[in-house]
Amino acid sequence: MSRVTEDELKKALSTTVIEKKDAKKRWVERMLKSAKSYHKICPYFDKRLGNCFLRQLSEKKGRCEREGKFDGCPVFMGFLEGTYDKLVSEGKNLPIDFMDLSLHIY
Ligand code: SF4
Repeated sequence: MSRVTEDELKKALSTTVIEKKDAKKRWVERMLKSAKSYHKICPYFDKRLGNCFLRQLSEKKGRCEREGKFDGCPVFMGFLEGTYDKLVSEGKNLPIDFMDLSLHIY
């Protein structure tokens, strides 16, 4: 019977953590790319008032400081990352297209 050394176990666990981070990063990047294919300005930007719907929901603050430019926006990226964590923790399927994400309330 072979035994797993502590170093082998640590290496295997760290590899799993890295793979999970990579999967999350890949999914977030995929959603961002997909969102950019549908929207020139952020889908959560209220053009009339200059507000951010996501910030209003999570921080109770309203303003979008980026005029709806969502590429690299920490609020938008945080929303995608949080959605990934929530869906994975609930064992739900991850959408493969931003439209699927934006049409459903998760
Ligand atoms: S803060 Fe970011 S997520 Fe919110 S409306 Fe502006 S660009 Fe979009």
